[in-house]
Amino acid sequence: MRGVFLPGNRETELREVPDPTPGHGQVVVRMRASTICGSDIRAIYREHLGTGAEAYRGVVAGHEPCGEIVEVGPGCRRFGVGDRVVLYHIAGCGLCADCRAGYMISCTSPLRAAYGWQRDGGHADYLLAEESTCVPLPDALTFVDGACVACGFGTAYEALCRAGVSGRDAVLITGTGPVGLAAGLLAGRMGAPLRIGLDVEASRLELAMSLGAIDVAVAADDDALDAIHNATGGHGCEVSVDASGSAAGRRTALLGTRHHGRCVLVGEGGRLEIDVSPALIHPAITLHGSWVTSVGRMEELVHNLVRWDLHPDVTVTDRFGLDSATDAYAVADAARGGKVAIAMG
Ligand SMILES: [Zn+2]
Ligand SMILES: [Zn+2]
Repeated sequence: MRGVFLPGNRETELREVPDPTPGHGQVVVRMRASTICGSDIRAIYREHLGTGAEAYRGVVAGHEPCGEIVEVGPGCRRFGVGDRVVLYHIAGCGLCADCRAGYMISCTSPLRAAYGWQRDGGHADYLLAEESTCVPLPDALTFVDGACVACGFGTAYEALCRAGVSGRDAVLITGTGPVGLAAGLLAGRMGAPLRIGLDVEASRLELAMSLGAIDVAVAADDDALDAIHNATGGHGCEVSVDASGSAAGRRTALLGTRHHGRCVLVGEGGRLEIDVSPALIHPAITLHGSWVTSVGRMEELVHNLVRWDLHPDVTVTDRFGLDSATDAYAVADAARGGKVAIAMG
């Protein structure tokens, strides 16, 4: 089969590799879609800077896989040939407290391995997966929908659930890339009556407005906080989500949060630099860190997407075949549009 590797220095390599064979408790999934995440760009494609859970071990790339099971190994109990599945993208040890809670992302066992990071991922014709990481993809959702859920939409949903977003909350989203788009679309379905999006890139704000992911677009400049306060009666937003991964975006998220509000950080990398008393202690803000989601919450999300008639694939602005992974990564690296998908058809 074919698989895409990321040697670093903004290069991609399409290589022939052996077809996988399922062991005990494993399935082989024919890949139908495998989207590109900001983390792939930041920690693998540009240069291999990840350590620990983000260390890239030279495997087939792609940690947002979705497809159809074509082979099951012995001992599989829930899934069978023909089942459409989203992959929760980390296989954990299965026994630690984090794994038992479904947060395999936070497992620290040496057995932990993420698809596309430490074990072969989804930019290939087939993926060897643990049955425990499969989430059923409802018929009403497309394979590209499923790929978007595998990391991005799951991450956004987890952040909003942590903040307990409801119809009582205006939501500020700093960074309207793919995760920010997901946060805006999901916050709307969860009842948020006002969603304010902020970005340095005008094209990303335009896309967010055109998708109905935000109600108000704010350019990330010196007037941004005034604009946020003007749109919220001078209070700021009850909930803020930073999906920018930048120090400036985090700071604006915190300062744009209403007193006694909640702020969730999901954008990765860099530092948080604030004056702690005026930004956090005096306004009594609850600050959450949030990393991906649990496998149980991912299953809940795909059911809710059907109820909400929300298709994550609307955030995909660029689609490529497996043979065009080089172009797919270049577009994702430029970070001017929405989600970039590798779709196998
Ligand atoms: Zn990701
Ligand atoms: Zn574990």
